[in-house]
Amino acid sequence: MAIIITEDCINCGACEPECPNNAIYEGGVEWAISDGTAVSDEYTLEDGSVVPAKAKHKPVSDELYYIVPDKCTECVGFHEEPQCAAVCPVDCCVPDPDRRESQEALLARKDRLHL
Ligand code: SF4
Ligand code: SF4
Repeated sequence: MAIIITEDCINCGACEPECPNNAIYEGGVEWAISDGTAVSDEYTLEDGSVVPAKAKHKPVSDELYYIVPDKCTECVGFHEEPQCAAVCPVDCCVPDPDRRESQEALLARKDRLHL
């Protein structure tokens, strides 16, 4: 499953630079697939929609740091454990029970983001 940031976030920013997929954004900041990835053309999101890699998307949260599910691989392919959860001082980076994904699916996403 993807990792999600809960409302306990204190906006310290420690997690953002640790993410190998640039999946973490400050609240209110628009996200793009191309940020911190190798994708430069089009990209198919998990909902099936095809978007330009550089297209800017609405923030998932306007107040707190957030994780883009389409970019989170639970750090699979890079690290043994989710790096955001490892550095978060208030333990608010937790598995999202609504997004359960296999290791294969996470690795496939990692490969699609970093061709
Ligand atoms: S689990 Fe890893 S890939 Fe997902 S948001 Fe956290 S640091 Fe990024
Ligand atoms: S490390 Fe934790 S508290 Fe700090 S910004 Fe990230 S999710 Fe929020």
